Parts: sequence; C-alpha cells; structure tokens
Amino acid sequence: MKITIKWPVLAALVLSAATISFAQPFSLPKLPYDYVALEPHIDKETMEIHHSRHHAAYVNNLNKAVTGTAAEKLTMEDLLLTAGRRGDAIRNNGGGHYNHTLFWEILSPKALKAPQGALMQAITAQYGSVDSVKTLLNQAAGTRFGSGWAWLIVTTDKKLLVCSSGNQDNPIMDVSKERGIPILGIDVWEHAYYLKYQNKRGDYLGAIWNVLDWTVVGAKYNAALSDPLLKRIEKDAWTALKDFHMVMSQTFHPAEEGNLQPIRERSSEMMLKATVLRNSPVPASFDSPEIRKAIGNLAIGSMDLNKAVRKKAKDAVLKAKLTALHDTFHIIQGLCSH
Ligand code: MN
Repeated sequence: MKITIKWPVLAALVLSAATISFAQPFSLPKLPYDYVALEPHIDKETMEIHHSRHHAAYVNNLNKAVTGTAAEKLTMEDLLLTAGRRGDAIRNNGGGHYNHTLFWEILSPKALKAPQGALMQAITAQYGSVDSVKTLLNQAAGTRFGSGWAWLIVTTDKKLLVCSSGNQDNPIMDVSKERGIPILGIDVWEHAYYLKYQNKRGDYLGAIWNVLDWTVVGAKYNAALSDPLLKRIEKDAWTALKDFHMVMSQTFHPAEEGNLQPIRERSSEMMLKATVLRNSPVPASFDSPEIRKAIGNLAIGSMDLNKAVRKKAKDAVLKAKLTALHDTFHIIQGLCSH
C-alpha cells in the first residue's frame, strides 16, 4: 500500500517545530534525522557526540539543578527570562537545552536553501539579500571569541537582528544585551565542529548553510511575530520598571506583615526609582495615556510617601500610602500584560 502524507500533516509538522515546547522534567528530544544524515557537512561522529553526550548532559544537569527547588515549577521561558538570578547551573544548562533543541530543528538533510514568504520579504527589506544576512551571521559566528552562538532573532519591535552570545546564553535571557526570540542559531562551540574541521571554524561556517533548513526558520519567524513571549521580553527589558518593582516588593511585603522599617529606610530610593521610571521611554507595545498617567501617579505617590517618612509619620499612615502606591504599580503591571 502506498502511503501518502497529506498537506495538513506536513503543515502540522512544520508548525510543531515553529514553537518549541519544553516540559519538566526536561528530556532529550529525538533527532528528526539520523546522525549520518548531515554528512559530509556535519559528520556522524560529531552529531552523535553532540546530541547524545553534550546535549544529554545539559538536560540531565538542568533537571538536577531545578529538582527540589522553586525553579521546578517554572517553564523554560520563565527560567530563561530570569537566568541571571538563578545561578550558573540553570543559566548554562537551561540555555544549553534550549539552544541545542533549536539547533537540531533548523538543520536538515533536505534543507530548503533560501527563505520564502514573510521571512524572505523581511530579510530583503532589512538586509537587501539572503547572502547579506548569511555574511553577517558568519561574521558574528566567526568573531565570537571562545564558545558561544550566533543568532538571527526577532526583536521586540518585530525586526530581525543578527547577534551573538557567549557560552550557552541566548537572547531570551535577561543577561543578554540583545533581546528577542531566536529563529536561527549557529553553535560555534568547538564540540560542534572540531572533529571534522579542527581549528577551521570558517570552513564549518561555510558548510553549515548546506544543511540549514530555511523552511523551519521561516515557520519560526512567523510564530515569533505573534508569540506572547515577545511582550514578556519587552517588559523584562524595561529595566526602569524592573528596578522599581524590586524596591516595591522588598518594602511592601514586609509592610503587609507590619514591618515598616524597610520602607522607612528606602522611601527616598523608591522615589528616585519612580522618577527614573517616569523619565524612561515606555516600550511601544505598552504605551498608552493610561500607562503614562499611572506612571505619573507613581512618581507623585512616592514623593508623598517619602515626605511622610521624613516627617516620621505613623506606621498606619505609611502602610496606607504604600498600599495605594502598590495598587498603582499593579495597574501598570496589568497594562503590560495584555
Ligand atoms: Mn553544542
């Protein structure tokens, strides 16, 4: 009997690769092709060691790092967005698992050699040609000192950007200078190419385009444009909001439990952070008269609170003012969440 695959099945396969799903405990994904399939461009032995040992180690070490901790309940996105404060084990192995999962998906023995559709239009509009973006990626990969990755990402303003990161960091992470959703990543750790190419990273970077599947990259581009993660990154990258949030949570929660000492000590710092927030540009996706008004109220409210602290107001007065300020802050948080 002849087996035919109907187009909705193919579309589903491509779409499932567009948005990577990760679930705890994390597991090593199966490769959609044999270890030998990418020869001669990437050799069998490299693929086997890279997938079954290196990637497997990231997965095992990530599971070890989260098990029995608060991080156990978090999604991969949560872990990456907060990587900078979760310790090196989660940062390195969480990144390692995410990055390699993406990497296997965009490689294929039957790679489509050039993008089509929306991604092709975006590349042409921004870079002129596919060759230009490949050159930029090879430059980013070739000049990355030591171990790391070169990326093509969708930024929070829905543009493309070529960048690179060290070790297993990636642009979803709070520690990354360039932020966005990666749609193409090139592994430039020596373990990705050394057996075949030794020190000739440039030769590896020339060969990889033969097995880089633009069909999958294009599907990832389309998925990234409407991925809610993009707004989470945009909010996370608004450091003035994040800085204010830190002081608020470290003073409000003790106050709720009757301890007003933290806000008495930090009311001027809170006022300063609110002023910085008022003067910082509101990210485009969240900008509205409502949010500007709330940010203005936050600045006025924290000045008022600081004044009350300096006048040695009673606990009940400070608690009421801080609670009102906390409510205003929640309005801002809410406006950034949809
Ligand atoms: Mn690797």
